[in-house]
Formats: sequence, C-alpha cells, structure tokens
Amino acid sequence: MSEDLQSHVFEADLTWTGTGFEPGVRLHVDAGGRFAAVTRTDAGQAAPDDAVTRLPRRALLPGFVNAHSHAFQRGLRGLGETFPAAAGDFWSWREEMYALVARLYEERLYELCLAAFREMRDAGVTAVGEFHYLHHHDPDRLDFAFDDVVLAAAAAAPIRIVLLEVFYAAGGIGQPLTGAQRRFATPSPEVYWAQVDRLADRLAGDGSQSLGAVAHSIRAATPDQVAALHAEARRRGLPFHMHVEEQRQEIDACRAAYGARPMAVLLDRLEISDAFTAVHCTHTEPGHLERFAAAGGNVCVCPLTEANLGDGIPPLAAVPAARDHLCLGSDSNARISMLEEARWLEYGQRLAGERRGALRDDAGRVGPGLLAAATRGGARALGLDAGEIEPGRWADLVAVDLDHPSLAGAEADTLLDALLLGGADGAVAATCVGGRWRQSGG
Ligand SMILES: [Zn+2]
Repeated sequence: MSEDLQSHVFEADLTWTGTGFEPGVRLHVDAGGRFAAVTRTDAGQAAPDDAVTRLPRRALLPGFVNAHSHAFQRGLRGLGETFPAAAGDFWSWREEMYALVARLYEERLYELCLAAFREMRDAGVTAVGEFHYLHHHDPDRLDFAFDDVVLAAAAAAPIRIVLLEVFYAAGGIGQPLTGAQRRFATPSPEVYWAQVDRLADRLAGDGSQSLGAVAHSIRAATPDQVAALHAEARRRGLPFHMHVEEQRQEIDACRAAYGARPMAVLLDRLEISDAFTAVHCTHTEPGHLERFAAAGGNVCVCPLTEANLGDGIPPLAAVPAARDHLCLGSDSNARISMLEEARWLEYGQRLAGERRGALRDDAGRVGPGLLAAATRGGARALGLDAGEIEPGRWADLVAVDLDHPSLAGAEADTLLDALLLGGADGAVAATCVGGRWRQSGG
C-alpha cells in the first residue's frame, strides 16, 4: 500500500449507496486512496467512459471493519475443542491461550498474524482493530518486540490496521502478572505511553496504520488507571477500547473489589463518548447499556467467539438505543467471517428472545443495521474515515460476485439480505484497501 496510485474510476453493476444497491454509480478514487467523488451515470457529471474501470457481475459495498481481533489466537484453531475432564469455559480456554503465548517467537507470530489478516481480506475485511496485548519476546527486558511484528504483518497482508495498544498491569484484580502473562506487561503508564510514542514513529506513512489506546479489562487495570489512560487517550484524540463484562466471574470480582459492576464503574468514572468502545458487554445490565449508548459509546460484539467460548448473549434486543452503536469483531479468530459475525449478531438475539427481527430498524429491516455494524460502526469505533462510500473516506471496498451460487436468485432489492443472511465468504470476489484491489484467495 506504499506505491503511488493513479486516480481512477470504478463502476460495478450495483453499488451500495447507504440505503440500497443501485446501478450506474461511479466511484472516483484519488491518488491518495480516498474517494474523491461518487457520481451517477444518469446525472451528466460522469467521467469519460474510457477512463472508467468496469466491474461486471460485481456489487460493491464498503469494506468490512473488524473492530476487535487478537490475530495471534489464529494459532489456537482446532485446539482446545475436546473436553475430557469436564465441560470447559472461558477460563479453561484461557489456559490453552496462555500455553500458545508461552511458545510464540517473532517468526511464528508473524506467520499467524499474516495468515489471520489475509484470511480477513478473503472474508471482506479491509480494516482491522488489532487489540494487541502480546507485547514482549523477553518480558525481563520489556522489549515490545511483538508490536513491530504485528505492524509488519499488516503491511504485508496488506490490511488497514488500527493497532489498539493494550495497557496490561495486573494478572487479575490485585494480583501480579505471572507466567505467560508477563509477556503482556505494561508496568506503568509512563512505560505504556512511551511505547505508544515510539509506535507512532513506526507507522506506515500512507495512512494505512494508526493507533488506539486500550485498558485490557477491569482485571488488568485498576479504575484509577483506566480513568487516567482514557483521559490521556482523549487528550491525544485516540480511540479507546476495553473488554467489558464478558464473564460473570469478572463482574463478581469487580463488585467485591470496587463495590460495583465494571460498566457501572466506567459510567461513574469516565466521560463516555463515541471514542469509547466496550467489547462484549455480554452480561451488561440493560439499564447500564442504555446509559452507555446514550453517551455515545460503541458496543463491539464478537458473536462467533462468544459462542465458541460459551460466554452468553448480550441483551441488545432490550436496548433499542444500542442498535445504532454496534460493531463487530472476530476476536479469537476461531473462525474469520464477517458475514457470519453479522448474521449471528441477529441470530443470537433471535435464539435468546424467541423472536425474529430482533435488531430491526424503524422500517422493520434487519440488513442495513447488520451492514452498518460490519462497516461504519467499526470505523467509528476505530476512529477511521472508512465504512461508507462517500467523498473523503478511504476507498475501502468489498466486491461481491453476483454469479456466486449462494446469491443465486437475489435481485438488487434482496441482495443485501441474501448476502448477510445466506451469502458464503466465497462470494467476496475481491477487496480494495485505499484504492488498491486484491483478488480473494491471492
Ligand atoms: Zn478480545
């Protein structure tokens, strides 16, 4: 993504305009990799035909934004799925994850990140928020060697990345970091922000890499630390992310230590805005979720990982205000499919509530909201000019194959629902990041 680009114009058979798929839409991309204009062929302002790259039998959508990933956990796929002693849970899975953490080194981490990021491109993801806490090869030296590995893998994939640099200071409330957790260590805010400053100088110069700030969870940072980190992130204009209320055990521990649930602590101590993204909110009380969304906060749901880990289902259907604040993450990367994440965002609510159309909009439609969660909701959470096809935003796109068997029979007005609820990842023919195309699978 570092070479110079010519400006150019694309026209596919159909293009998502924010409300529907339309023919005759021309996307003008400038040399910097952003949309310069969106024109209609019937509006008399189109580019000359010979300057247009036609994309026959394709439909264009905004590129999917994967707002929450731990790329290295791609190395766990196929592992930890037998349960000889007893039923497993998040905590038994975490031991498996720590065993992987203990044996990683730079080259293996690079392979795993590259594999995950390329698989994301194949699944239509053009931007990823990499929630990165596996910092050190040598924890005794606090070398942060693995941070550079993630950025290098993203550049090679290539994929747009927001490196969500994680502050991680405790191994549980009031507990030291032990064993593999020592590779996550940011012992003080000073060490953490010095590393953020260092990373800022190492980002790709083409705008494809940026930074965000993170407190891992209420287990890994005290409320005082979270509040200070968040205030500094706001001062710097960085998005801020945190795992919130994925596990009941975490909520119980937080209540015992601080007298309130994690979300209540955050609502009490922080000035929540659209720069704050709470990941999971699986067990968040509806009233807390309502206050959080009303303040502008983003809720990142990771349906496939939450299902794989047996976490539970967040109470989204009970909180209409949260529906405009959703985004999606592939989290553990046990499966990488944004189409599945989107459909299971709705399906989880259907299974929990025994009702269809749980996340419908005022017009009764489900598809536009699911697409928004997979695109502009993620872009908002990551502070990216992406997620919508409009001038000034990054030219990040998904090209869907209208001849793919999983979409047979779909017309312009049913294509979105057909894709989101029935489409296979193989229907993602290509993706475009900053105006540069990559065919899926290669
Ligand atoms: Zn996570």
